Amino acid sequence: RRFSTAPAAAADEEPIKPPVEVKYTQLLINGNFVDAASGKTFPTADPRTGEVIARVAEGDAEDIDRAVAAARKAFDEGPWPRMTAYERCRVLLRFADLMEQHSDEIAALESWDGGKPLEQTAHGEVPMATRCMRYYAGWADKIHGLVVPADGPHHVQVLHEPIGVAGQIVPWNFPLLMFAWKVGPALACGNAVVLKTAEQTPLSALYVASLLHEAGLPEGVLNVVPGFGPTAGAALSSHMGVDKLAFTGSTGTGKVILELSARSNLKPVTLELGGKSPFIVMDDADVDQAVELAHRALFFNQGQCCCAGSRTFVHERVYDEFVEKSKARAERRVVGDPFKKGVEQGPQIDGQQFKKILGYVKSGVDGGATLVTGGDRVGSRGFYIQPTVFADVQDEMKIAQEEIFGPIQSILKFRDVGEVVRRANATHYGLAAGVFTSNLDTANTVARALRVGSVWINCYDVFDAAIPFGGYKMSGIGREKGAYSLRNYLQTKAVVTPLKDPAWL
Ligand code: NAD
Repeated sequence: RRFSTAPAAAADEEPIKPPVEVKYTQLLINGNFVDAASGKTFPTADPRTGEVIARVAEGDAEDIDRAVAAARKAFDEGPWPRMTAYERCRVLLRFADLMEQHSDEIAALESWDGGKPLEQTAHGEVPMATRCMRYYAGWADKIHGLVVPADGPHHVQVLHEPIGVAGQIVPWNFPLLMFAWKVGPALACGNAVVLKTAEQTPLSALYVASLLHEAGLPEGVLNVVPGFGPTAGAALSSHMGVDKLAFTGSTGTGKVILELSARSNLKPVTLELGGKSPFIVMDDADVDQAVELAHRALFFNQGQCCCAGSRTFVHERVYDEFVEKSKARAERRVVGDPFKKGVEQGPQIDGQQFKKILGYVKSGVDGGATLVTGGDRVGSRGFYIQPTVFADVQDEMKIAQEEIFGPIQSILKFRDVGEVVRRANATHYGLAAGVFTSNLDTANTVARALRVGSVWINCYDVFDAAIPFGGYKMSGIGREKGAYSLRNYLQTKAVVTPLKDPAWL
């Protein structure tokens, strides 16, 4: 089934040459780009065609050992945790300036490796990541402990110290932004880092890590190891020299990582995992605005968002109108080469995700949902999928329960507030939600009743660096962004001194 021939033609056109060259394909260890100890490399592919962009050094356990040793030395003996907080702040600010100066290159790399529309990376990810680095640079010299009153003649200081060597594992759907969310707070607190990039998208992290060194980051403070999950990722998670682990990815992998930590040195683990986020449209909402935002909440980034509004709950009184307008909007969505102006949706990340998503489409059709539009691939090469809308979706269907991670919108009908809150909460996930209503009381009631880490009222996907983000239930442990993320990267030490002859107790 094709909804139009135009996008198919666009996907089959000769791919536009990306306006950037790949400069860095090796591991970054102790301030140097080096080959993997094994000498192995792996391909990173262009999602528009499946063709290889570059071969990248494949880090495994031995390289993780080398990277952790470099980070340990930088933390235990190096200048980074010992310099003044203001000096650290200035390195991070210089890095943010360099990101701005090289924003075109960064955006192009991110779009090439990940299949994301260039207009999205240039106006979204790159400025957001830069803002995030500046936000945490600003925190560097505002992190301090406190003095607490104890019951006795003691002077009690509570110190907030860097936690040490942080291991960080990121996914492919927002490689640059995940870099900023994780590296920003870790470095602002004075830690050293070993970052493992996702196998599909190693390029932007290697590039910006080189800029961070240009900004004055001492060697060994940030090490970047591209590689695979079960080898490099598992080695990092179970490493005895790593003091803390931060992970973003699937819930299944999050469980594995928590187990690896438990079996090694009990390093604290923060997890940002999957979701099945409800987007709730009440009958008093502005329907046109809700249709547009529900569309973006699901289709943004080719639907590859952990907080995608993947269950669109619509009140029965506006349901038919909403479905009709959502169909029209999906059919207007511009699918094509991410480097072409005006393109809203590029290809999915790889063949595996592409197949998985089309499998969910089949499951929706077989399960009895109404396929309103889309449902097929676009063109004959690469991993483009039609913007797809299902209506009459029931809670027990697979497409309403599992994370699809693709451009497939599921619309469900509801009658009243109590019912929709109950159904929205009936999932193991608890990442995010949207509520659309013109009634402030309804908005507040629903926002508080939902068991999720973020609620957007009459908006969606608002991601400022100052706003904490993370999941309830099986969507994660801990929070990233905002001041909350600093807690992940600090230790707390109580220092007690007796007070001789205190003037005040
Ligand atoms: P994934 O869990 O397979 O991979 C994520 C990262 O974990 C990759 O770097 C991978 O190499 C690594 N990894 C895989 N197996 C590992 C192991 N055994 N030990 C250590 N590391 C291992 O997930 P994915 O398919 O790359 O990403 C999509 C998933 O991530 C989705 O489910 C999505 O919801 C979730 N996600 C969540 C958030 C969030 O903030 N909550 C953000 C983005 C993506």
